[in-house]
Amino acid sequence: MYDIQSYHQAASVADAVAALVRDPEAMPIAGGTDVLIQTREGRHAGCHLVSIHGLPELREIRREADGTLVIGSGCTFSQIHASPVLRPRVPMLCDAVDQVGSPQIRNMGTIGGNVCNGVTSADSAPSLLALEAQLELTGPEGVRRVPILEWYTGPGRTVRRREEILTALRIAPEQYEGWYGRYLKYGKREAMEISTLGCAVRVKLSPDRQRVEALRIAYGVAAPTPVRCPESEALAVGRPLDEALVKELGQHVLTELQPRDSWRASKAFRFQIARELCRRAFRQAVIDAGGAIHA
Ligand SMILES: Cc1cc2nc3c(=O)[nH]c(=O)nc-3n(C[C@H](O)[C@H](O)[C@H](O)COP(=O)(O)OP(=O)(O)OC[C@H]3O[C@@H](n4cnc5c(N)ncnc54)[C@H](O)[C@@H]3O)c2cc1C
Repeated sequence: MYDIQSYHQAASVADAVAALVRDPEAMPIAGGTDVLIQTREGRHAGCHLVSIHGLPELREIRREADGTLVIGSGCTFSQIHASPVLRPRVPMLCDAVDQVGSPQIRNMGTIGGNVCNGVTSADSAPSLLALEAQLELTGPEGVRRVPILEWYTGPGRTVRRREEILTALRIAPEQYEGWYGRYLKYGKREAMEISTLGCAVRVKLSPDRQRVEALRIAYGVAAPTPVRCPESEALAVGRPLDEALVKELGQHVLTELQPRDSWRASKAFRFQIARELCRRAFRQAVIDAGGAIHA
């Protein structure tokens, strides 16, 4: 049963923020693919919803003059996957969001909802962490930006204040120019499957494509929140592209992860997948970057 006390369709972001300020019990709803499922399960009994669904100001994807990519929080996964602005610059993100749920979910679910729900299984999260996205929030005090690296505070929790709307995700040019990456998701089946574990790897090679210049590794469902692996990233810098590095990376990431047992997979199995996905994603990213792994 959908026990919804009140529903306000906002006319703008400013109107949504004002409605959230007016009603201390109100919460935003965008695509509703999380909120409505939870409401039906009775988790938000008597909820007060402020809808930002379909607001044109949240649906834009653009590239600013300095190269910064700006993705409106209300963009659906389908929109992101098909974006001619994003596809040539951040294909990893376009492909990651294409692994969410089913076509119906990807047509309704938004990237803003995926980030604001704060869950470790969100399929966009590892890519956004590896891209060091900046999150733009609008609240009663105005606009602020939060690096995604400071966003997650615990399972299902973020630094977003209750009356704030996430308006956009920003990716600076230095985060995508010269970088290549892959997101690999492990699930028991191909579609309609929440991630058992997901791994995003991004690599920048030296100009001769023989060494790692910089590396980013991020995981979902390998800890209570989506996480980066800074020590493993650092150990690869300057190293030649060889099997020893691939092996070492896969092993070292495990020291930076805290997966848990769940009905989906055991902790031991998640460690095994984490090692394997890191190695596979790294190999693929190196090939995408024009490099090769030597024996
Ligand atoms: C069948 C099914 C399969 C799914 N499969 C996957 C999957 O494979 N991978 C995956 O990652 N997810 C999956 N999901 C979860 C869901 O589709 C995503 O998390 C989606 O991104 C949520 O977006 P939404 O717009 O529907 O969010 P909503 O349900 O509208 O909101 C989610 C949360 O974010 C808040 N919120 C939303 N937008 C904003 C905003 N702009 N500012 C502030 N707060 C906001 C809401 O208050 C709420 O707390 C699945 C869901 C279903 C029902």
